[in-house]
Amino acid sequence: MDTKNTNQKIVVRIPPSPTGFFHIGRARTALFNYLFAKKVGGEIVFRIEDTDKERSKKEYEEDIIKSLKWLDITYDSGPFRQSERGNVYSKYVKMMLENGTAYLSQETEGQNKEVIRFKNPNKTIIFNDLIRGDISIETKDLEDFVIARNINDPLYHLTVVVDDFEMGVTHVIRGDDGIANTPRQILIAEAIGAPRPVYAHVPLILAADKSKMSARHGAVSLRDFRSAGYLPEAMVNFLALLGFNPGGDRELYSLAELVDVFDLARVQKGGAVFNIEKLDWFNKEYMKLLSEEKRNEEIYNRLKNHGEAEKMSKKAYSIIFEHISKWGDIDTMLGAGEWNYFFERPKYEVSLLSWKNSSLENSKKHLEWIKNTLESSNKESFGSVEKIKSLIFDYATQEGRGDVLWPLRVALSGKEKSPDPFTLLYILGKQESISRIDNALKIL
Ligand code: GLU
Repeated sequence: MDTKNTNQKIVVRIPPSPTGFFHIGRARTALFNYLFAKKVGGEIVFRIEDTDKERSKKEYEEDIIKSLKWLDITYDSGPFRQSERGNVYSKYVKMMLENGTAYLSQETEGQNKEVIRFKNPNKTIIFNDLIRGDISIETKDLEDFVIARNINDPLYHLTVVVDDFEMGVTHVIRGDDGIANTPRQILIAEAIGAPRPVYAHVPLILAADKSKMSARHGAVSLRDFRSAGYLPEAMVNFLALLGFNPGGDRELYSLAELVDVFDLARVQKGGAVFNIEKLDWFNKEYMKLLSEEKRNEEIYNRLKNHGEAEKMSKKAYSIIFEHISKWGDIDTMLGAGEWNYFFERPKYEVSLLSWKNSSLENSKKHLEWIKNTLESSNKESFGSVEKIKSLIFDYATQEGRGDVLWPLRVALSGKEKSPDPFTLLYILGKQESISRIDNALKIL
């Protein structure tokens, strides 16, 4: 790969604007910078681009820092804040006014009577983008653009170029939307005598409908994904492979393994489509790697937020785990009342107790048999799903499995769909199961 400055230390930057919660597109760009820098033994500068005083908020800055930490994306220096570097920018604005690459301009429109404009040399700029190849742009169309409102109030393009220069940035890896900014920034860099960094513009993340990912597509900030209960390892793995293909069929990579295989040359040019099912798949794979203790702790913490659900037997946890791909699914399932039968007596219509063409009479007969069998069973036989099954299964096979097992399942869960009755018996335990069967017998 062409990294140009071979003797020089490679420096990349992570320069988010704190104007919103950390967007997954920005997170992915940060991740690509991280992977690239680690791969080549370079350094990462972390810079908060808060020149927009109205839209920049401390809350967002904190969220960005927290999000990088969550993903385990570290940096070598920073955070630097542009809002604290006014003197540095003034120095360059002065220099540009002195060397004639900028001038004071009297304005008839807009809020300011006087602004500082860049003296556009009106030329063709060709830059090589590591992902896009050669890009050629006529700067004439940009006219003499404004670089500062006054000597102490620089605008975005100037601050970026000055910072990249002062911080020794060699590689600018950023979103595709930065391409339009590049010619202005190259012109300013030339005017202040800064070397041109190597550019790599990463394709945007697209929603399933191929439009730009935005809030109307649901979760877009890392904060949303954090609270939905995704694991950071899954997020990193998923984001890295969104537009980057290490080659081969392998999909699961830790952050360190991603560093090993990362190559900007393997980042695709076209937009990468965000697929939430794929993220869920990754997440489940990482959930499966957690210890049972950790899983149970996570499940318990989610249940705790739902009052009664806290009472759910630990024996139900493995069923819960089977049915989720992120911890937040527990909130969704509980919110929809899907698992209420695990901790409260079910309510249902009596008609639900009969299987297809079978009669309620039959259901009653079978439930009575089961009740007697369970009552006379010893503690041992409730020790596992298999043991419970062996109490009932032969009878069910003889009498018709649907005829016997359907009413049993309904008596226990009150639902058309739920785990099999043996699993339910095991989770609910002997006493509770018998009293639920009793309830069914009462209404039959
Ligand atoms: N502050 C800019 C953003 O968050 C960074 C653009 C750049 O990388 O130059 O979009």
